[in-house]
Amino acid sequence: MDEASLAKLHEEMRHCRRCLKAGYPITSGAIFSGPATATVMVVGQAPGVREKETGLPFSGPAGKRLFSWLAKAGFEEEEFRAMQYITAITRCYPGKGRSRGDRVPTAEERKLCAPFLVCELDLVQPGLIIPVGRVAIDHFLGRGKLADLIGVVFEKDGRLFLPLPHPSGANLWLNRPKSQALIRAALGRLRQLKKEMAL
Ligand code: SF4
Repeated sequence: MDEASLAKLHEEMRHCRRCLKAGYPITSGAIFSGPATATVMVVGQAPGVREKETGLPFSGPAGKRLFSWLAKAGFEEEEFRAMQYITAITRCYPGKGRSRGDRVPTAEERKLCAPFLVCELDLVQPGLIIPVGRVAIDHFLGRGKLADLIGVVFEKDGRLFLPLPHPSGANLWLNRPKSQALIRAALGRLRQLKKEMAL
């Protein structure tokens, strides 16, 4: 729980231009939030256009849905933002992709940004990690079907992982009745962990 070291890391992340130098059209600085005392770390894919404007992770429509899920597990948004850590696999807005949606960060960008996640984990030491969306889930838990991952708590390297699907409205997986049941199961497990771990 070293706030000074974390503040130094945050400064380094804010000034990072590795992806720009590698030729990627990122259009924001790094976006993340949270203290070194956090016990939960939410890791998304990358900030979106709304986050670019606000500088706050998960502050767009997808964030609204994510916080509505977290509320069902007993976490209130304002308190969660103040107490817990929110970051992403790549921390800068990647810009629009070929379709209307945001560009998915390339494997090279993910690799360029990965050392920051190692440092964040090292300094924050969260007991529970919530990877949100395919890219973050793959990073921590490897490739697998969402149907086999959502609603399950995994233990790896002394930490617990509770994956959640990407809360974007563009994620059609969310609309299936079976998916809704899996999300409800995941939030039930999260509520249970909140009590057990005093999160
Ligand atoms: S996405 Fe990560 S590695 Fe790329 S410029 Fe932003 S902070 Fe640096």
